[in-house]
Amino acid sequence: MPKKHSCPLCRGVKNKFIERISLDDLSFLYEKQLGSSARPLFTKSVFNYLKLLKCGRCGLKYFQPSLRSSRQIDYLLETKDWYFLDNKEEFIQAIENIAPKSKVLEIGAGNGNFASKLASRYYRGLEKSRSAREIASSKGIKLLGESLFEHSKKNKNMYDAICMFQVLEHISNPNAFLKSALRCLKANGKLIISVPNDDSFVGVVLNHELNFPPVHKTRWNREVFDFIAKKFGLNIEKLYLEKLRDEHLEWYLETLFVNNLNILLKRKSRLIDLSWQANILVKVAKIFARFLAKGISLKNMRPTGASLTVVMGKN
Ligand SMILES: [Zn+2]
Repeated sequence: MPKKHSCPLCRGVKNKFIERISLDDLSFLYEKQLGSSARPLFTKSVFNYLKLLKCGRCGLKYFQPSLRSSRQIDYLLETKDWYFLDNKEEFIQAIENIAPKSKVLEIGAGNGNFASKLASRYYRGLEKSRSAREIASSKGIKLLGESLFEHSKKNKNMYDAICMFQVLEHISNPNAFLKSALRCLKANGKLIISVPNDDSFVGVVLNHELNFPPVHKTRWNREVFDFIAKKFGLNIEKLYLEKLRDEHLEWYLETLFVNNLNILLKRKSRLIDLSWQANILVKVAKIFARFLAKGISLKNMRPTGASLTVVMGKN
């Protein structure tokens, strides 16, 4: 495991402080989202605050101290119908980069949504959630419950393409995770990764608890993948920045408004802000966002969306 205060990707110890987050506030937001059974995780914790830091070496954003994953919260999320997204655009981008007869491994295969779109003859998916595996199984897709680490010991240089969609940000030790994935990849194989793009509006959304621990452990952007390519000797073959999705139009505009109102009122924009002033700003922003979303839905008015997909080749 990484040293206590070092970056979980590069072990760098230099970092920039971004924000101090109260666990009470985080607990309140998780409870609002998932119900009172999300509370015990936070009350058991021995510290009161988390710090969001940006690594001075690789650019990854991470939290200190690290908050362990919670099976309880994962379970509550899996019961939400929006949790295993059917990310069509990412899937299409990945499929464009996978040759028809490739052997494909998907890490974090969810309900088997990607597998059902992939025409490849040889597919294997890893998924730790039993209920997700059961849903996939009902669609005729058999997923494995073993960890990537276990899988990588038995399947060295096995795959032509390895995909992970919205997985890496949930992992406490991304360095070890990427190493295991690369162990399974053949020379000239492709590693295809989608993550929330922290350079897009999702990086500044107010009170978006799911982008914080224990669900998301890290925040990613293009800069971090440049570092990964160099560190692991990979070539970045393609990098896709998603266009803002229809379902995110109002959310994007609301975020833009809240940040602009903060500038206007000379308030500091925070990632977690439960003050009554912030509450009012959000209410005002929601009204404007609903109105303006109609205009921004035009194709050529769309800014960058929430997700980034990178295709990296192994030499
Ligand atoms: Zn780092």
